[in-house]
Amino acid sequence: MSIAVLAGDGIGKEVVPAAIACVDAALARHGSRVDWVDYDWGSDLYLKTGRMMPVDGIETLARHEAIFLGAVGLPEIPDTETLWGLLIPIRREFRQYINLRPIRALDGVPSPVAGGDDIDVVLVRENNEGEYSEIGGRSYRGRPEEEAIQVNVFTRHGIERVARYAVGLAESRGGRLTSATKSNGIIHTMPFWDEVVAEAAAAAPGVALESILIDALAARLVLDPGRFDVIVASNLFGDILSDLAGAIAGSIGVAPSANLNPERQFPSLFEPVHGSAPDIAGRGVANPIGAIWTGALMLDHLGHTAAADDLTTAFRAVTKAGVRTADLGGTATTDQVSAAIVAELAR
Ligand code: ATP
Ligand code: MG
Repeated sequence: MSIAVLAGDGIGKEVVPAAIACVDAALARHGSRVDWVDYDWGSDLYLKTGRMMPVDGIETLARHEAIFLGAVGLPEIPDTETLWGLLIPIRREFRQYINLRPIRALDGVPSPVAGGDDIDVVLVRENNEGEYSEIGGRSYRGRPEEEAIQVNVFTRHGIERVARYAVGLAESRGGRLTSATKSNGIIHTMPFWDEVVAEAAAAAPGVALESILIDALAARLVLDPGRFDVIVASNLFGDILSDLAGAIAGSIGVAPSANLNPERQFPSLFEPVHGSAPDIAGRGVANPIGAIWTGALMLDHLGHTAAADDLTTAFRAVTKAGVRTADLGGTATTDQVSAAIVAELAR
């Protein structure tokens, strides 16, 4: 099994090797291994060639079972280049229609809100359509009648597949599914979203579906984070909720994410939520837990479930024991955290 490694920029180059060491140690416990193949893509390549990845980048990635990414982007490069030059083409070409964000409190990572230490939510964000579309335009630039139009695209197929995935996940967990909506204000796409999600949930008798308006849902997440289990949301709403829920759980340095093609017809992409963090890059102090947890999501997706569970147990134990980086109030370096997890896995 081979994994394409895009360590990328800034602390991506530091947390990725740390995570690879932990993933390898978890696999070794079960007599398994994977091949890691490095690709030097991202901002350096962009500054040299004007491209975030080579012209045949997608074909290259298609030869791998998964893509493990650190972080791409630098302050001097517009975010749109990183997104549209790398991340969005990968998400779309490989039909990574699920953006998965487990949000669970860690011992040793205090939450800024009351009850935040009870949070254990999986956010399922639609990743291929919805509000983020290229359709639209701007007219009458600079004139009083200037206008901009951006078309939202929701398809039955697109909603069905994300809803089915979320329903399946809810079935395997507590059976509670929350859907983010805004059908009172967005009167075409959101009622459609609600209908299709409700149909998917009706097919699973063990799943209780609750649709909540996005504004109220955001407030309730802050006030009572422990009451939520699986949340399914459109591309935009999911984007916003995932940062909100991540902030409730604690540091951005520990948050994992996966861009999934659940059928494994194409490679899925795994990346920590944080960016390249230029302010701390190059000092060896970045928190590798986000990347390591992301590695556990990848193992799980690839069918190495036992190794994924061991890795999760190990990083939770090491964080609890107090081996923590500066963002969590500790003094450990990136490599010390990784070494402690490797040692835990070797026991
Ligand atoms: P990008 O545009 O690439 O998302 P950003 O500056 O918006 O970059 P991050 O790079 O995630 O966002 O950084 C936000 C803040 O969180 C920075 O102060 C950074 O140092 C801190 N941070 C992010 N990731 C980590 C980490 N793994 N360990 C410690 N601190 C981190
Ligand atoms: Mg950012």
